[in-house]
Amino acid sequence: MSKKQILIIHTGGTISMKVDQQSGTVKPADTNPLLSVDQPLDESAVIASVEPFHLPSPSITPKEMLELKILIDQTLQKQHFDGVVITHGTDTLEETAYFLDMALETETPVIVTGAMRSSDQIGTDGLSNLMSAVRTAGCSEARGKGVLVVLNDEIHAADNVTKTHTSSLSTFQSPQYGPIGIVTKRNVHFHQQPIRRQKIPVTSVNKRVALIKAYAGMDSHLLLLLKDLPYDGVVIEALGQGNLPPAVVPAIKELIHQNIPIVLVSRCFNGIVQDVYGYEGGGKHLKELGVIFSNGLNGQKARIKLLMALASNFAPEQIKKVFEQ
Ligand code: ASP
Repeated sequence: MSKKQILIIHTGGTISMKVDQQSGTVKPADTNPLLSVDQPLDESAVIASVEPFHLPSPSITPKEMLELKILIDQTLQKQHFDGVVITHGTDTLEETAYFLDMALETETPVIVTGAMRSSDQIGTDGLSNLMSAVRTAGCSEARGKGVLVVLNDEIHAADNVTKTHTSSLSTFQSPQYGPIGIVTKRNVHFHQQPIRRQKIPVTSVNKRVALIKAYAGMDSHLLLLLKDLPYDGVVIEALGQGNLPPAVVPAIKELIHQNIPIVLVSRCFNGIVQDVYGYEGGGKHLKELGVIFSNGLNGQKARIKLLMALASNFAPEQIKKVFEQ
């Protein structure tokens, strides 16, 4: 059997960090320890590695996400790879994975992985996550499933997965839906096929989208500031099924009047927002005012999607459609 050709793109994160003995903090190592791993990651794979940047993931912005998309497109055009693995810090990993899921057209598996413990901590998960990611990337069943996130031997779809725990190795979960597959000692098993794949052919990320969380007693002040700031859209993590305190309604009306799209998600991490409640600030009222309801994405991913749609110059109706699909 011929060996699988796998491209690993290193971007930084804890997976490539070390503990600084003096301060006791976890920091980027001078050189990425993953680049000098001397044991084979997968006997049946030939690995090529590149490191376009070496950043903690709070420093990753949509600019780096677009850079990754371009790098993957250009590399796959020039050379055959059976799969691509991206190593990434876990804090914003889900945003990069979701961006790439919508931006990339390729059927080649693209797997994003990371680690919760640095390379020199006891019980480090970096190498085992990387191995599982490489094996998933080389698995023909992973083709056409979109960008996948592999950590802790679970395979998650980019649109559902989220970081749920600050430090646990099993931090990545897909609330409500669960993982779409698992990696075992011998095999890579898929038990679900993502059916809701969307594409936004983004070529720039030159838009600003705010993400604001609703709370009991919220008023209009903060949201109203947005109309005088260089923001092109806003995502609100609303209450429950998609409701806001009545004191927020004046700001909603004003932003919509200023043609600033408002996308609503729920601050609950299960379920979808709907226009169920008919009171002042209830979902039905907000929908009538022109608020766009998203279909189950969390706030940070809805923000990425709105940014991509705005940067691709989608008309208001198109923006509504990509969120409601
Ligand atoms: N703070 C780190 C980062 O996202 C966390 C990690 O990689 O696990 O870069």
